[in-house]
Amino acid sequence: MTRINLSDLTIKKVHELLQNGDLSARELLEFYAENIKKYEKDTHAFLELFDDAYQQAGRVDKQIKSGKEIPLLAGIPLAVKDNILIKNRKCSAGSRILENFTAPYDAAVISKLKNEGVVFVGRTNMDEFAMGSSTENSAFGPTKNPYDSTRVPGGSSGGSAAAVARQFCLGALGSDTGGSLRQPAAFCGVVGLKPTYGAVSRYGLIALGSSLDQIGPLAKSVEDAEIIFNVIRGKDKMDSTTVDSKIVSLCEIPRSGKNSKIKNFTLGVPKEFFEMNGENKELDRGVVAAMENSIAVLNKTGCVVKQISLPAFEYAVETYYIIMSAEASSNLARYDGIKYGFSAKGENLLEVYMKSRENGLGDEPRRRVLTGTYVLSAGYYDEYYGMAQNVRNFMRAALVDKFKEVDVILSPTTPTLPFKIGEKADDPVAMYLSDIFDGGANLTGIPAMSLPAGFAKVENGKELPAGVQLMAPWFCEERLFECGKLLEISN
Ligand code: GLN
Repeated sequence: MTRINLSDLTIKKVHELLQNGDLSARELLEFYAENIKKYEKDTHAFLELFDDAYQQAGRVDKQIKSGKEIPLLAGIPLAVKDNILIKNRKCSAGSRILENFTAPYDAAVISKLKNEGVVFVGRTNMDEFAMGSSTENSAFGPTKNPYDSTRVPGGSSGGSAAAVARQFCLGALGSDTGGSLRQPAAFCGVVGLKPTYGAVSRYGLIALGSSLDQIGPLAKSVEDAEIIFNVIRGKDKMDSTTVDSKIVSLCEIPRSGKNSKIKNFTLGVPKEFFEMNGENKELDRGVVAAMENSIAVLNKTGCVVKQISLPAFEYAVETYYIIMSAEASSNLARYDGIKYGFSAKGENLLEVYMKSRENGLGDEPRRRVLTGTYVLSAGYYDEYYGMAQNVRNFMRAALVDKFKEVDVILSPTTPTLPFKIGEKADDPVAMYLSDIFDGGANLTGIPAMSLPAGFAKVENGKELPAGVQLMAPWFCEERLFECGKLLEISN
């Protein structure tokens, strides 16, 4: 066998090699295992490496040997964020309270990937209950940025993003409630897609904010993200919020009377994203350069980029933190020391509840339970939760309008480059501002994707990745992929 440079390969090419017998699933896994051996100590992307990965690969190799045509994802090593259930495996959501919890069933996305013959390599580190932007909130220690181990990989799907960037696997699953796929994708120089709300089943995803959560892929290329998305998407009877995307897609409505297959996209850059409450005027220079570079690339391909206004998006962070905390406080009520995982001893039932939560949950989940309970309490409900829902509706309406004018919205993914471990750990508001460009897509439900947009120089000549974000109308992921490929090829 001629030596193949596996680090350059993407899913389609690997599939071809596997199917033609030029590479075995086992050999492929060995390549990733070697990288894990070398770099995992410095990265801490995984909470557990699955010891049956070679068995899983062996099953695929057997199928190939027997002359069977294998699905596109068969034998492809993927990592899974620790909040997505895989039957009979531990699933802790990065929390002590679920440290010894074993999943009783497969998440819908896992069943689909199992049917394809995916090789699951391990479960990845994350901020506790997906609450965070740096993976520092994991109860099991932080993950390090693959480009600089003194910096964060982003969060909450930091382990998954770092695993893909470090070539520990060919792709990964993460979840996104307010940027948790896109922000780590930007910080680690990979692609991260948050699908339209309702495109992918949430059955078997440990819930954070149920009206915001979506599972999505992290991958090396737009095409890889597209392949994984096309496998995991679809209506599921176990999640009533999933829909048949063909019926509801806004993409079916031709823009300005033209055909909906748009080749020269019109992209809108929201001015509010650069004027947010005065807080965000100081966009990192590297981020601005990435944006400018992307706009230049798109212009060259014949796309039109123009400034737009998206009223209410300047309140995305406040609105997101009210709604997410409200939903989180109710979702986390089930961790009472009785039904799941960790249970503390107590004199009576109330004491068991209180001690289990006190010792089992970290600072950030407790902060959000408090905030969420407060914004839902009588007397404050209208002022906070009700108001946030109004802003959310306003944002949605503004988008319906704007997407008559532009095909895709373009923005930075994050206001900064990857920051230092510890830099924002004691300042929750500074940390929350990492979501300034991302929360809007979750609040309104539209699909959004972050993709690499070059590197920026920081101290000592070090280079760190910067990302840009594309957003499309509901169920128009295809538009993200087409536009993303334009950017990717030319970058
Ligand atoms: N940074 C966001 C938060 O802390 C991201 C959450 C997410 O998308 N899971 O809530």
